[in-house]
Amino acid sequence: MVRRRRPPFVAGNWKMNLRLREASDLARKIVGAGPDLADCTIVLIPPFTALGAVAGVVAGSAAALGAQDLFWEDQGAYTGEVSGPMLKDARCEYVLVGHSERRQIFGETDETVNRKVRAALKAGLSPIVCIGEVLAERDAGRTLERIDGQLARGLAGFSREDMARTIIAYEPVWAIGTGRTATPEQAQEVHAHIRGRLGESYGHEGATCAIIYGGSVKPANSYPLFKEEDIDGFLVGGASLEAGGFVGIAREALRAYREEK
Ligand code: PEP
Repeated sequence: MVRRRRPPFVAGNWKMNLRLREASDLARKIVGAGPDLADCTIVLIPPFTALGAVAGVVAGSAAALGAQDLFWEDQGAYTGEVSGPMLKDARCEYVLVGHSERRQIFGETDETVNRKVRAALKAGLSPIVCIGEVLAERDAGRTLERIDGQLARGLAGFSREDMARTIIAYEPVWAIGTGRTATPEQAQEVHAHIRGRLGESYGHEGATCAIIYGGSVKPANSYPLFKEEDIDGFLVGGASLEAGGFVGIAREALRAYREEK
């Protein structure tokens, strides 16, 4: 019997999609999907413009609100940026940091990720820190080396208590938005490696950190992925834009979870 650490954690990253009405409609459908999802941590991550609308829908429900990014300063002359205290004020509990699109399109580095994680924790937010290799690194057999570098630099200087509030999202870049998912075995290998490294660096808090998988997750693949011992849930992009798909992913993960209890 696999020893599961925690119920599924399923977050939907809506990216730069959905107007206000569409965002609240989608949130309402997910929140109203049924009491069977109560065992699952559900996090909705709309664009900044829809945070207020979605906050109104998730208030009083079991679902939580997250943001897609933050800046490391609290306030000031940083046109276009949003800070941790602002997100907290907007009722966010979580924030994505270092998503591969931020790294690849906007030039974020492990060093900026580190500053953002620090700012998130200081504001009382739980950072969801995204790491993962590109295809050339996987093909060259350098996946774990890449992961080690991202963890070492991105999380340098944090404490065990910080790690207890941090979620790691392993997202192989070649699987994001491509329809090409890592196999359960490929994902498990990297998740187990991450857990081992976090355990070495942060003891119990590191070893019990939530480590979620992202990359073309759908209802059809979430059950076998969640069956793997070190996969604690999912960060979902495309499939989170449709209530049936997102809820289906959560239900399939819950099915795997309940079989193991
Ligand atoms: C993501 O953007 O984090 C993601 C995993 O996207 P998708 O599910 O569309 O691959």
